[in-house]
Amino acid sequence: MGTVYNAVMVNLYKSIGKLKGVGVKRKQLYEKLGILTAYDLICHFPRSYLDFSKTVPVHSAEPESVCVIKGRVTEKFMPYAAKSGRKVFTASAYDGTDGFIVTFFNNPYAFDSLLIGTEYYFYGKISSFNNSPQIVSPQIMPCGSDELLRAVYPLTEGLTNAMIQTNVRDVLAMPELADVEFLPYEFIDKYGLLPLADALRSVHFPKLAASSALQTPKESETVRKNEMRAPMTLSEFSDINMGGDDTSAAQQAVKPARYRLAFDELLVFQLGLLMLKQRNQQQTAYAMTEQGIEKYVNSLPFTLTQAQERAIREIYSAMGQNVPMNRLLQGDVGSGKTAVAAAACYLAFLNGSQSALMAPTEILAAQHYETLCSFLEPLGMTVAYLSGSLTPKQKTLVREEILYGKADFVIGTHALFQKDTVFRNLSLVITDEQHRFGVGQRAMLASKGNSPHKLVMSATPIPRTLGLIIYGELDISVLDELPKGRRKVETYGISARSRGRVYAFIRQQLSAGYGAYIVCPAIDAADFGMESVSVYAKRIEKEAFKGFNVGVLHGKMSGADKDEAMRRFRDKEINVLVATTVIEVGIDISHATVMMIENAERFGFSQLHQLRGRIGRGAQQGYCILVTECFNDDIREKFSIMVETSDGFKIAEEDLRLRGAGEFFGKKQHGLPGFKIADISSDLALVNLTRTAAEELIESDPFLTEEKHSALRGKVLELFENGWDGK
Ligand code: ADP
Ligand code: MG
Repeated sequence: MGTVYNAVMVNLYKSIGKLKGVGVKRKQLYEKLGILTAYDLICHFPRSYLDFSKTVPVHSAEPESVCVIKGRVTEKFMPYAAKSGRKVFTASAYDGTDGFIVTFFNNPYAFDSLLIGTEYYFYGKISSFNNSPQIVSPQIMPCGSDELLRAVYPLTEGLTNAMIQTNVRDVLAMPELADVEFLPYEFIDKYGLLPLADALRSVHFPKLAASSALQTPKESETVRKNEMRAPMTLSEFSDINMGGDDTSAAQQAVKPARYRLAFDELLVFQLGLLMLKQRNQQQTAYAMTEQGIEKYVNSLPFTLTQAQERAIREIYSAMGQNVPMNRLLQGDVGSGKTAVAAAACYLAFLNGSQSALMAPTEILAAQHYETLCSFLEPLGMTVAYLSGSLTPKQKTLVREEILYGKADFVIGTHALFQKDTVFRNLSLVITDEQHRFGVGQRAMLASKGNSPHKLVMSATPIPRTLGLIIYGELDISVLDELPKGRRKVETYGISARSRGRVYAFIRQQLSAGYGAYIVCPAIDAADFGMESVSVYAKRIEKEAFKGFNVGVLHGKMSGADKDEAMRRFRDKEINVLVATTVIEVGIDISHATVMMIENAERFGFSQLHQLRGRIGRGAQQGYCILVTECFNDDIREKFSIMVETSDGFKIAEEDLRLRGAGEFFGKKQHGLPGFKIADISSDLALVNLTRTAAEELIESDPFLTEEKHSALRGKVLELFENGWDGK
C-alpha cells in the first residue's frame, strides 16, 4: 500500500508482522482491518477516548452506569470460584469518603497489577455487592499517569484494544517516525499545523491539559461552556466520530492532532483534483468552430430558458477552445439539462465529430435516446443506442456504426466503457447523473477519445463546498431556472392510518386518466422487514385499486423488464407503478401526477426531492404524499421541510447538515475517497482553507515537482492509485 518516499521510511512500511508481538494470527486480524504495515497501524485512528479524569464520587455513582471512580486499594482478597466456575478476584478500595469493591472475573493479571496503598482510576460498570458498591471488570489507570485519555479503537474479534495500543506505542517509538512528515516546513508554519509525527502521537496518546485533569467535574463544565463561546483558532473545526465517553477535555486534547490529520486528507485530495485539472489543461482538444445554435434553437418545441441559453453559450465557448472542456452542468430536476446537452452534441456534429452520452441506468439511457432522437434527428444527426440488453449481434452492429462514423451520437450505459467500443472521432463525452460514477469512471470514458470535451450532468443539487470536493476538477454551469409554467408539486406528510384517504385520492387521479407512482423503500422483505414491492402491488391491485392496472419496478428486474414496465406505464397500460428508488433519477413521464412514498422517513431529503421530481412534469398539478407509520417530532420536521421547500439546493444543504456527506449520496456511490478523519459536511471551513492552500501550492508548482514537494506529491499519487474515486 504505502509508497516509499525515502530509504529511512522502509521500516514503517514493512509488514505489520515484523512488529514485536505480532505473530501470524494477529497479523491476519490486522489484515482484516486493512492494516498491512506499521504505518497503516498508526493511521488506524481511535474511534473515541476513555477519559479517566472524569471521576465521580462512589456514593453518587448510578448503579448500572459506566463511570470512573478514583480510589486507593486497601485490601486484596483471596480469589474464589463462583458457581459459574469463573474465578473471582476482589479487592476493596476507598475513594476518600466511601469504600467500594473492585471485582475481576478470570483476570489474574489485572488483579495482580493492583498494589495495596496505591491510588487508581477505575473505569467500569457500577453494581452492588453485599450492599456495598462494586465496580466490575474495570479498566485501571494509576493516578499520576499522564495517559488519562485512553484511545478506543475500532476492533475485530480476537484483537483487543490493549493489543492495538501496545503495537501502536511501539511504532510511535520508532526513530523513523521523525521522517513521516510530508508537508514542507513553511507550510506547517503558515497554517499553524502540528508536525505529523506529533499529531500521530497525540491522536493515539492524547495528553490531558494539566489544568483540566485537576478540575472537579463542575468546574470543567463551566470551562466547557466558555470554550464553546471563545473564538479559538481551531473552533471552526468540529470534532467528529467522537461518540462514546468523550468529554470536552478529550476533544480539546486531540483537537490540534485531528485538525492536522483532517487537513492532510482534504489537502491531498484537493491537490489531486487540481493536478487532474492541470493535466487536462495540458491536453489538446478539437476546437470547434462551426456554430449552429439558431438552427437548433428554432427546431425545439419550446423556448429555451435564459439559464439554458447561458449554459449553452458557456459550453460552446469552452468547446471552441483547443483545451478539453471539463464542465459540470448542474440543475435541479426539470431544469432542462437534456436540451442543453443536445445543443452540445449538435455543435460536435456540425464540426464533423462524434459525441457520446452515458447514463447510469438502462431506463434513463433509453429515455435519453428517445428524447435526444426527437431533438437531433430532425437536424440530420444519426443517433445510436448501445445498451447491455442488446444481443451480441446487435451490439456488434452498433459498434460498427460507431467505429465507421455512421453514428454521430451514441447513447448508452456502462456498456460504452467496454474495450471493444471504438469511436471514429469522438470529441464530446457527456455523463448524466454524475454522482453515481466515480472520478475514475469519468476518466475512463474520456480516455475513449483523443482528449474529448467532457460535460457532466448532475440532477443532484450539491452545496457549493461539496461540489468543490466532488467536482473539484470541473468548471460549472448552473441551470438555476425552471421552464415557465412549471407548477410546484404540492406535498403532504400523512400518517399511515390515513392511507385509505390517500388511495381514494389516487383513484380520483387515475380516473381522470393520470398515472401514479407508489414508492416503497425496499426490494424484498428480508431487507428491512417490509413488504416487497411485488406483495404490495398484488395487494393493492386486489383491494384499493380494483379495476386499475398495477405494475412493479425494482432493482432486481432485468434491464429489459424494467424498460417494459416503464413503457407500459408511459403508454397507460399500467396506471399505478409500485417501485423502489429505481425511478429516482431522470424518469420523465408527463402524465404521472401523484407520487405516494411509503415509509418516507427512511429516505434522505435529496432522495425525496429526486423522487418528487418525477411528477408534475406536465402541465397538470403534481402531488407528492409522504407516508409514515410512526409520526414523531423528527419526522414531522423532516416532512415539513419537504412540504415547504421545492428548491433543490436548499434541500441538499439540509440533507448534508442532517446526514453528513457519506450518507448524502448513499454509500459507495458518491465517488469520494473514504476520509478517515475529515467530515466534509461539518468541516466546511477546513474544506475551503485546504482548497485555497492547494490552489496556492499548485500555482507555484503545478505538478509538485519541486524537491521540497516530492513527499507530498507521493501522497497525492498514492491516493490516486489506491482508488481515490471510491473504487
Ligand atoms: P432535467 O434537467 O431534470 O434532466 P429534462 O431535460 O428532462 O430535465 O427536462 C424536463 C422536461 O422539460 C422535459 O420534458 C423537457 O422536454 C422540458 N423542457 C426542457 N427545457 C424546456 C423549456 N425551456 N421550456 C419548456 N420545457 C422544457
Ligand atoms: Mg435528466
